Amino acid sequence: MVSPSRLTYLWLLLMLFASPTPAKELVLHWQDDFNRAEQEKLSRWIHATDNAITRLVGELPFTRHIFFHRADYAREPVPWAHTQRGRIQGVHFYVDPAYPYEDFMSDWTAPHELSHLLIPYLGEAHAWFAEGFASFMQFQVMAAMGVIDQTEMQRRYEQRFARAARRFEEMPELHHLPFTQAALELRLRRQYPTMYWGGALYFWQINGWLTRHTKRDMISILTEFIECCRANVRSLQGLVASFDDAVQQPIFSSQLDTFRQQPGFPDYPKVPDLLPDAVN
Ligand SMILES: [Zn+2]
Repeated sequence: MVSPSRLTYLWLLLMLFASPTPAKELVLHWQDDFNRAEQEKLSRWIHATDNAITRLVGELPFTRHIFFHRADYAREPVPWAHTQRGRIQGVHFYVDPAYPYEDFMSDWTAPHELSHLLIPYLGEAHAWFAEGFASFMQFQVMAAMGVIDQTEMQRRYEQRFARAARRFEEMPELHHLPFTQAALELRLRRQYPTMYWGGALYFWQINGWLTRHTKRDMISILTEFIECCRANVRSLQGLVASFDDAVQQPIFSSQLDTFRQQPGFPDYPKVPDLLPDAVN
């Protein structure tokens, strides 16, 4: 007969070798009652999203905490979600588990919210940058999940940009402001999609420039950033400097200056020459 202490020892030994590296974990928290089938469906969905992000840009150097809250009788599978930043990095999802798995997979919320975690929290004043980043990333992640193809991804970008540009046109009193200033006003007016997609143009333009002038793109820059610097960078300035280092040209800081100085909505659909003097 095996003694209890020996069993404990064997169990500890097993845990030691069986447990995954804590830094790479995705930890799920069930904040309300979810039955087993609902838990399985939601877990599968969130893992599929997280795995797609890992395939795209590599593994984040910290545990992601996912909190599930019930939102029954909602008009969509994920009516609301928000990130939690600080000591615990994660996302709170308010979900209606009655929706089928496919509806969760084709929803943009999880690709958007989990993408927020790829860069540090930048503060309220730079919300246009953080939201622009997550908005740019959401369709990249959905393509990596196999939910949309490249053609559909481009179609969605163009539709969102065109709609945001039109909305901005209807607010002539903001046209004299650089976009970083206009974004603060858009936020106060709750014109979120206009702020989000105007901000996403920062990344879309850089991505276009990179693919045209270098062998890189936004995803490859991000992959390098997560590997080298994600754990240590804590400000917008530091983030932009890290991105510039990856390209070995001051493309991100120059683009930031443009967004801080040039009045009006960012250039669309034309990708401007972001670094006129750069070596191509
Ligand atoms: Zn967001």
